Amino acid sequence: MGAIERRTTCPYCGVGCGVIASVADNGSVAVRGDPDHPANLGRLCSKGSALADTLDLSSRLLQPEVGGKHVSWNHALDAVALGFQRVIDQHGPNAVAFYVSGQLLTEDYYVANKLMKGFIGSANIDTNSRLCMASAVAGHKRAFGSDTVPGCYEDFERAKLVVLVGSNTAWCHPVLYQRLLQAKKDHPDLSIVVIDPRRTATVEGADLHLPIRPGADAALFNGLLVYLSAHDEVNPQFVERHTDGLEDALEAAHASSPDIATVGERCGLAAADVARFYELFARTERVVTVFSQGVNQSSSGTDKVNSIVNCHLATGRIGRPGMGPFSVTGQPNAMGGREVGGLANQLAAHLELDYPGHRALVKDFWKAPTIASEPGLKAVDLFRAVEAGTIKALWIMATNPAVSVPDAGQVHRALARCEFVVVSDCVRHTDTAKYGHVLLPASAWGEKEGTVTNSERRISRQRAFMPPSGEVRPDWWIITEVARRMGFENAFAYQSAAEIFREHAALSGHANEGTRDFDLSGLAALSDAEYADLVPLQWPVTRERPHGTARLFGDGNFYTPDSRARFIPIAPREPAHATSCDYPLALNTGRVRDHWHTLTRTGLSARLSAHFVEPYIEVHPDDAAPLGLVDGSLARAESRWGTAAGRVRVTDSVRRGTLFAPMHWSDQFSSAGAIDRVVNPATDPVSGEPEFKHTPVRLVPMKAAWHGFLLSRRQLPQHNASYWACARGQGLWRYELAGNDLPKDWATAARAVLCAQDDKVEWIEYFDNAARRYRAARLTRGKLESCIFIGPSPQLPPRDWLVSLFGLESLDAATRAGILAGVPPKGQKEMGRQVCACFGVGEATICDAIRAGCGSVEALGARLKAGTNCGSCVPELKVLLAQQGQQQQIA
Ligand code: SF4
Repeated sequence: MGAIERRTTCPYCGVGCGVIASVADNGSVAVRGDPDHPANLGRLCSKGSALADTLDLSSRLLQPEVGGKHVSWNHALDAVALGFQRVIDQHGPNAVAFYVSGQLLTEDYYVANKLMKGFIGSANIDTNSRLCMASAVAGHKRAFGSDTVPGCYEDFERAKLVVLVGSNTAWCHPVLYQRLLQAKKDHPDLSIVVIDPRRTATVEGADLHLPIRPGADAALFNGLLVYLSAHDEVNPQFVERHTDGLEDALEAAHASSPDIATVGERCGLAAADVARFYELFARTERVVTVFSQGVNQSSSGTDKVNSIVNCHLATGRIGRPGMGPFSVTGQPNAMGGREVGGLANQLAAHLELDYPGHRALVKDFWKAPTIASEPGLKAVDLFRAVEAGTIKALWIMATNPAVSVPDAGQVHRALARCEFVVVSDCVRHTDTAKYGHVLLPASAWGEKEGTVTNSERRISRQRAFMPPSGEVRPDWWIITEVARRMGFENAFAYQSAAEIFREHAALSGHANEGTRDFDLSGLAALSDAEYADLVPLQWPVTRERPHGTARLFGDGNFYTPDSRARFIPIAPREPAHATSCDYPLALNTGRVRDHWHTLTRTGLSARLSAHFVEPYIEVHPDDAAPLGLVDGSLARAESRWGTAAGRVRVTDSVRRGTLFAPMHWSDQFSSAGAIDRVVNPATDPVSGEPEFKHTPVRLVPMKAAWHGFLLSRRQLPQHNASYWACARGQGLWRYELAGNDLPKDWATAARAVLCAQDDKVEWIEYFDNAARRYRAARLTRGKLESCIFIGPSPQLPPRDWLVSLFGLESLDAATRAGILAGVPPKGQKEMGRQVCACFGVGEATICDAIRAGCGSVEALGARLKAGTNCGSCVPELKVLLAQQGQQQQIA
């Protein structure tokens, strides 16, 4: 038999790439990009390419548990239904809540929302998508009367100017970025402007970078609106026929941003750069302005979104090929969650909780006994209510709020005191799962069936290509079984995801008559076979538009009561919490290239973990020097809300006075790397989205009596270290360590950690008591089992050569001597930190090749293959080429 192939969708970011999974006779899985999927046309980024590495069962939750004991599904589902019913009976429906996720499929989301809003009768269901794109939703609704992304990815390729605002597209939406770079290659007159306080990898492909002062985006776009008006670039026909409110918006814009000099000052930018951006925008008809978390995650995120949309409305550049404002979502199904009402302030099918007519429509359609009549609690407020005891039963689905919600220490406190916590997830050990009274094993990617919607409104199928593991069940099944046990058998009698999808599609078309653009009525009668074969297509999908709709608003008709779009007057606001003497630096958080959320999945892949093996904090050289911090030091970021620790990276890619730290590390992978413990819980008053991009902090150097690292084939239970971080390597675990207490004797301490009692074990060791250095390796039948390196400072031998030794069957004498010397013997090389995840090419290897004459990305690709598969590392190759070029010039 040959391999079985299934077309499915990547479960990571909002690009929503199509994936072909091939399952061989022996069960092994290989993935490749789907050339027929319109989102990626065959491309995958480093994360998507490594999907097969993450199917490992070792970390999975495979059986239901109640009180830490394995139980039957019946027992667990009864416990959940009874637990929720008891709280509702005693305290009312608003005493319970669901916290759900953009990882859920649309069908899962649909039934969760239906149960909470129509049958329990509360709107206390919110999603982790609140954390990444709620401001875009609110901004769209204020301007368009609907939550609509007007364009499609093809617009990136048809534009002449693409403005990327608060979006490290190269790392966070890599395939979209690759499409953009290819478009620039094909059409060199396409300009790219990046607006970001950091010089990110995305900047490598840009014609202009505006390193804006954090939080100043609205002042910049207000200034653009003033400039467009002053230079006669407003489209009077469009404005007259299709919009309201330009004068008020202009007046507000004048107040904050009257001229380029003022804008430059407010935004911390050179006036000439501001002028260049404004001129480019003004003279280019086909402009797409892409915005993401850097805009949304702010206490004035909704205003920032509208300041961008205002400029597109003023010029009429919306809904036509190659133009429009474009929100890209962080999660694979953030859009699906918006469609079914996964946010606490929405009903299903883009209907509004605030409108009595909409509430009646949904209640009737569902034949529900009730319907929530007021918005529920948004993410941050929801966990406050849990800590306050107002919410007494909480069901968390497919997410890890103990790591990802701001002021995460508060979430820990809330979960610890909550009467009844249910966690349904595919992972057993997360920072959140440890608080679950009931754990429900959910199907993982590759095991489940349903749909997701990407950032361009494109609905794609996720398809199962593996049998379910252990006793796992799809989320929709788990939710409907609980609903049935709560007495709602008829409304939740679904037998398949297809059945739920048909109902969801029918609701979107119910009493619609063109009043709502979210309309899937053309899919409401799909047979099971048609659902199984559904090809990716963009909503709305109706009888008139059976193949979907690429763009909306090109005709100037919007979804406000009078069909006219609204300009919103914007008065830019500073971040909620200002820096101060005690907390003088502004912390910005985000993602790294090869990791996804809280490491529960990408942390399973050795090649994805090699890019960054531990949490880090980026700091400008001028801020690092007075603190005595150098590259590789350890430091703590401290705020009013909490503390996190990481390795210092000194770099001028962050602005003076700011720090950057990635959000991925949890208590499972580090002693104190969870940066969201530090992040302030301020939210946008309209969208409820938190201000992840600006928290006042101080940076405190961490002193340690010793530093070290340890590589081991086995995962080690404890490290006797006050600082630790761990990551998977190929067939091994990597630990970075530091401690305050020196052991009496390193040899005994190391043997205790590495369990060296076994007689067959061979030890090689090196001491230098004067220099406080200790190195040891443990071998079995000549094969390296583990090694440990200790020293007085973070300057320790390079690791990657040592990691490569774990792939050898035995070590020769020169290699053993090299281990103790901390340098590769002659003929072996240190490859350096991994840059290319696809081919495992390291920084040192790349720099050697550049010094040997490879002067371009193409030449590096030809010699090393680096950058020739997914292309995610190309921006870093460009940085290394530039750095080496500079060094050669200096030399
Ligand atoms: Fe997945 Fe990468 Fe595509 Fe995002 S860009 S959907 S992470 S393959």
